[in-house]
Amino acid sequence: MTQLHHTLRQLRLSGLAQSLGARLQEAAASRLGHAEFLELILQDELNVRQQRLLERRTKAADFRSLKTLEDFDWQFNPAISRKQIFELAAGEYLRQSKDILFLGPPGIGKTHLAQALGYEAIKQGKEVLYRSIFDLVRDFMKDEAFKQQDKTLRRYLKPELVIIDDMGLKQLPKYSGEYLLEVVMRRYENRSTIMTSNRPLEDWGKLLCDVPTAGAILDRFLHHAITIAITGRSYRIKDAPLSNRETKQSKKAAELSTAGAAS
Ligand code: ADP
Ligand code: MG
Repeated sequence: MTQLHHTLRQLRLSGLAQSLGARLQEAAASRLGHAEFLELILQDELNVRQQRLLERRTKAADFRSLKTLEDFDWQFNPAISRKQIFELAAGEYLRQSKDILFLGPPGIGKTHLAQALGYEAIKQGKEVLYRSIFDLVRDFMKDEAFKQQDKTLRRYLKPELVIIDDMGLKQLPKYSGEYLLEVVMRRYENRSTIMTSNRPLEDWGKLLCDVPTAGAILDRFLHHAITIAITGRSYRIKDAPLSNRETKQSKKAAELSTAGAAS
């Protein structure tokens, strides 16, 4: 048995090694055939490997916080079509390299749904990267400063799905538009990108301080994009009493708090 475990270690079959004891007992108890037994233990190894890959890919995606479709309350905002989101989750858009744009005010679940779609893509064996637009700009600025040409670009081009969150949350630094255009242009018709924005598309020129670049970004991004415009109230302030919620003051407070927190 120790020799067997040694051999399994040499072959890097740790998943199989884990369950071997239990499987041997099971085989004796239910008189499994040799082939059946072999199939069972190899399947154990495969399951462990798939689980590890899922964990590795989820970590690499660098989600803000892992949110899933199961965590989403579909009753809260009936403007969001459960059916449409589940159809997207099936992943056909990834095979067609289509993009998705979530539009709508803060707190309605754009980041949640974008990350949940990302997690579904990982479960289907895809590589995913989640970045806020600020992280994206910072990554490219650093890349330039350290003369690591193309390293960052490669990171943004390789995954089958890149999620760029938080357009519209804050004014962006100079040249942001050029970095975003580079990513969008290279992924265009080649790999899927999900973006979220709480500002209408007409404002993107101002946000990026560069109207022509914003136009070039949107032209490509929207060409095959599925746009999901959501209206409704913020999930973050759902617990505030209704009577207060309507007053000007609390509205202002809610706006301030959602603008301050990562939206
Ligand atoms: P947005 O990106 O649109 O500003 P988020 O996706 O960050 O909003 O949502 C704000 C918070 O509320 C998050 O913690 C998110 O998980 C939660 N949330 C939003 N909508 C729902 C919902 N319908 N069901 C469950 N949680 C939700
Ligand atoms: Mg958000």
